[in-house]
Amino acid sequence: MIGHRGQGFKDLYAKIQPQLQQLLYTKQLVYLSTSSAWGVMEGAIRNLVSKKVLSCMSGAFSDKWFDVAKKCGKQADALQVEWGQPILPDVIEAKLATGEFDTITLIHNETSCGCMSDLPALMAVIRKFPDVISIVDTVSSFSAMPIPKDKLGIDIMITGSQKALALPPGLSLVSVSKRALERASEVTDRGYYFDLLEFQKNHENGMTPSTPIIPIIYALKSKLEDVKAEGVEARYARHARLNKAVLDWGLAKGFRLFPKEGHGSVTLNCFANTLGYDLSILNKVLKAKHQLVIDGGYGKLKGVTFRISNMGDETDATIAALIKALDSALAETPKTGA
Ligand SMILES: *Cc1c(COP(=O)(O)O)cnc(C)c1O
Repeated sequence: MIGHRGQGFKDLYAKIQPQLQQLLYTKQLVYLSTSSAWGVMEGAIRNLVSKKVLSCMSGAFSDKWFDVAKKCGKQADALQVEWGQPILPDVIEAKLATGEFDTITLIHNETSCGCMSDLPALMAVIRKFPDVISIVDTVSSFSAMPIPKDKLGIDIMITGSQKALALPPGLSLVSVSKRALERASEVTDRGYYFDLLEFQKNHENGMTPSTPIIPIIYALKSKLEDVKAEGVEARYARHARLNKAVLDWGLAKGFRLFPKEGHGSVTLNCFANTLGYDLSILNKVLKAKHQLVIDGGYGKLKGVTFRISNMGDETDATIAALIKALDSALAETPKTGA
């Protein structure tokens, strides 16, 4: 292991910084936080909310973000839509027009129900309110499709290591605009571990505030080399192609996509279990005979939906093998479910 205050770490940090900026389409810095995404999701709230946050809620993760804001002692308002429905620009506009809010939280891709909101349309509306700082979670969509941070005007963009990047867990990335740093400098109870100003100060020396998860940062360096070798456009095209292959398979089987039409996620398909298969038996068969598992529904959607991921390193071959295994396992699965 190398020391995190030595030249070896500074070199590693300096090497990946421009590659990360490229992948986020940003001139701003990308800080490395040794935590899962929730660390910086909570940290962003603590750093930025001084008046009130508008919590856009459309699934398990975004619903929880509202609770987290309240647990941090912040004023928060719930903009709740049904799981599987996207967040719509006019609803946000009406809320922000009240002038009550100085911060908004938004999840681009709700992994729990496979629903993706139209980020460019939402950011166009949010940008009309210059006092509102935007915090956007791209945990399960980052690097699967272009999310041009600066062009869209996202203040804080967050992702984690173990979802769309398909790395081991333990690291998250957070890129912060200048005006967000200015806001943070006016907030007094930012804490220490996720203090954005600490990240900024240490960045200037090529370091992180506290001891970073160096092994995963090496893994990130390797992943960035893979992304470069594949080519980012080819990576986006691969996600779109594999996603469609699974979608076509599911629709042909007679399942319906759970999220609203036109808002399916590019990194996973969440199908409604319209045929009533017993999903726990399906997973038992998949695991025993094919060494595969899929998700049998998140939280309140357990048994009612199932999710198939195509994020990260999946290939035409792995998805074709999964589909073949699913066909075979479904033939042995009773229809007793939801
Ligand atoms: C998984 C996930 C999170 C939380 O990530 P942790 O790594 O558990 O902190 C947040 N947002 C989205 C959209 C997720 O899919």
